[in-house]
Amino acid sequence: MLHPIKLPTYNQNLDHILQFQQQFITFLCNSKTPCRPKDTDFEPAFKPETARWFYKWLQNQSPGKKPYYQLLCEILDHISTHPRLRTEIINAFQHDIDFANHLTDAKFSFSFRKFDKDTRRLLKLLLVPFYDDLLYAGFHTSIAAFNRKQFLKTFWDTNSHLKVCPACDGVGIEINRDNIRCHIDHFFPKASYPFFAIYAKNLVPICSLCNNSYKGEKDPLIHAYANPLIHTFHPFEKPALGEINIIITRGSKGEKSVRLEEKSGGRSKRIERLNFIFALEERWTGRLDIEIGKIRTKIEGYGRRHRHEYANNREIVERVLRDIEDDFGLLGKEHSYVLCRSYVQYALNNSDELEELVGLLP
Ligand SMILES: [Zn+2]
Repeated sequence: MLHPIKLPTYNQNLDHILQFQQQFITFLCNSKTPCRPKDTDFEPAFKPETARWFYKWLQNQSPGKKPYYQLLCEILDHISTHPRLRTEIINAFQHDIDFANHLTDAKFSFSFRKFDKDTRRLLKLLLVPFYDDLLYAGFHTSIAAFNRKQFLKTFWDTNSHLKVCPACDGVGIEINRDNIRCHIDHFFPKASYPFFAIYAKNLVPICSLCNNSYKGEKDPLIHAYANPLIHTFHPFEKPALGEINIIITRGSKGEKSVRLEEKSGGRSKRIERLNFIFALEERWTGRLDIEIGKIRTKIEGYGRRHRHEYANNREIVERVLRDIEDDFGLLGKEHSYVLCRSYVQYALNNSDELEELVGLLP
């Protein structure tokens, strides 16, 4: 993820939802839970009103057309035939949600991925609806008076400094008083990491283009690497913007393209991954001519109004470029400022490009 974003507290609502998920997992893994639990079997694990509401919710149909209750029975059967899963699932959940404390731990890997295919499938079928269904419909007030709309409002209230898509610096996010239009990305896709279906550090509002056309279900981690967490830009823990340079290059026919590099120089696995997920190089290269066009218009306009104040056209061009470069307050507020500023820095350091801009003025 590109822009730094702040992690909202959500008034502890997401913590309460996480506790509910933990209670649910404990319930699943408890040897006293029957494989066909009745409503009264839920009460020792949950508050009475939560137990009643949850039992009722489980009677709903899942998108796969089975009632959630039937999926619950399937996983209870599965766990009862593989009793070692009782402690393994509980431990895996505790272990995985602590990932942010292990970003530099070379031995860390997600426990969920080590489960067999059936266990992963069954856990996914029951945990993903916590997001797909319950966050939309709202949880019972005994858990958290909280839904998707409140999630978005809280996120954007906390991140009111940001007016662009955190992933691509583009438009596509609308934040009005009561109307917020954007998608919620699961940084670790919920289909592959269902423990994070509703987990504060995994949910990031981004634009629909980023979510639908680029990120989708792509995994930000390459598990073939030892500690893949090192090789990714986590949205809250390690945003990319302060760590990368956006380099503009010019081809033999004058065509320009965008390339991402580490601040320390060169290409890295995490930059490859960032680009794999959001295709920023390709998308920004596509946007570059439009942004350069705007800068050229700005230079021509400024030149017309202020020609008499400068000794020559080069000084005019440099003035306009320096003003854009110094207008750092626009970062995160005006879409494509990241790209614009990168081009400006390129033009100020490239005599051919600078001469071309100077040539715009009479
Ligand atoms: Zn975007």
